[in-house]
Amino acid sequence: MFPTSQTDAPQTKPILVDRFGRHVTYLRISVTDRCDLRCVYCMAEKMQFVSHSQLLTLEEMVRIGQAFVDLGVTKIRISGGEPLVRRNILYLFRTLGVTPGLNDFTLTTNATQLPKFANDLKKAGVTRINISLDTLRQDRFRNITRNGDINNTLQGIEAAVATGFERLKINAVILKNHNHDEILDLVEYAVAHQIDISFIEEMPLGAISEHNRAETYFSSDQTFSVIRKHYELLPSMETTGGPSRYFRIPDLKTRIGFISPHSHNFCDSCNRVRLTAEGRLLLCLGQEHSVDLRQVVRSYPDDDEILRQTIIDSMAIKPKGHEFDLSKDPVITRHMNHTGG
Ligand code: SF4
Repeated sequence: MFPTSQTDAPQTKPILVDRFGRHVTYLRISVTDRCDLRCVYCMAEKMQFVSHSQLLTLEEMVRIGQAFVDLGVTKIRISGGEPLVRRNILYLFRTLGVTPGLNDFTLTTNATQLPKFANDLKKAGVTRINISLDTLRQDRFRNITRNGDINNTLQGIEAAVATGFERLKINAVILKNHNHDEILDLVEYAVAHQIDISFIEEMPLGAISEHNRAETYFSSDQTFSVIRKHYELLPSMETTGGPSRYFRIPDLKTRIGFISPHSHNFCDSCNRVRLTAEGRLLLCLGQEHSVDLRQVVRSYPDDDEILRQTIIDSMAIKPKGHEFDLSKDPVITRHMNHTGG
C-alpha cells in the first residue's frame, strides 16, 4: 500500500531506483509536440504532429504527475514542443503546482507566450523558467526558427524578468557557423538581465536536413574557451537537479552552464524520466525504452495503485545512457519536440 501523498509518510528508502542504483527524482512532462516556432535542430522541415485524440488530457497528465510525486519525485519540468500553446494549459500548472511534495516546479519555453502567462505561472507555483534563445540577431532567429520574430521572445523574457521568478535561464544550442560567434553577446545579454545561461551541445534526435550535425558540432570546451578569454569562470557546485555544470563569474549574478552530452557525458548521475504528450513514459532521452502510461490511466481510471506500480516496474528497463554519435544518422528517429529535451 503506498502513501497517498509524500507528506503523509516519512520518506524512508527511495522508491524509484533503477538497475544502476540511480534515484529518479525528476519528471519532465511534454504537454504537446506542437510549437509556434520550427527550430532547425528540433524539427524537420515537414512534421507530422500527434492527433489530439492521441494526446493525454491535462487531467491525465496531472494524475500521472501526482503519482510520480507520491513515489518520491520532487521536481517536475513542463516542456513541449511549446507548452504554452496547449489550450487551457494554466489548468495543469494550477493543479499540479499545489501537489504536496513537489518542491521544484519549472518550465521550458520559447517565451513567445510569456507576456500573456508570466503572472499566472508565478501564482501557480512555477519557480524557475528556462527560455530557448540561440541568437540575438533577427535574421538568424528567423533562419534558426524557420519563421519566428525575435521580438516576441525578447518581450517574453522582459515579462518574465519583470514578474520576478526565483531564477530564469537562457538555453542556447551552439552550432558552428550558425551562431558560435554570438556566444559572448549571449553571455552579455544574460549578465545585463541578471539571469543564467546554459550552452548546449546539440543532441541528435530525429532526422533533419538543414545542417550536418557532425559539421556544426561546437563542444562545450570550445564555448568555455571563448568565454574564458573575457570572463573569469569559477567552477560551482551549484546544481538545479538537471545536467548543467555551472560556473560563476566573480561579482556577477549570472551563472554560466554547460550541457555536454557528447564531451562530458552525464548519464551516470541521471535522475530523470520523461512523459510524452501521448503518454509514453520514456526512460531515457537517448533511447526508445518506454512504457505506455496512457493505456494504464485509461484502463484503470480510478486505480492509482496500478499506475504507481507500473511506474516502479519501469525502473527495470531504464537504460544506462545514450549512444549519441554525431557521425552517424540519428539512432533516435523521434524529434526533440516530442520531449523538449
Ligand atoms: S541520455 Fe538518458 S541516461 Fe543519459 S542523462 Fe539523459 S535521460 Fe539520463
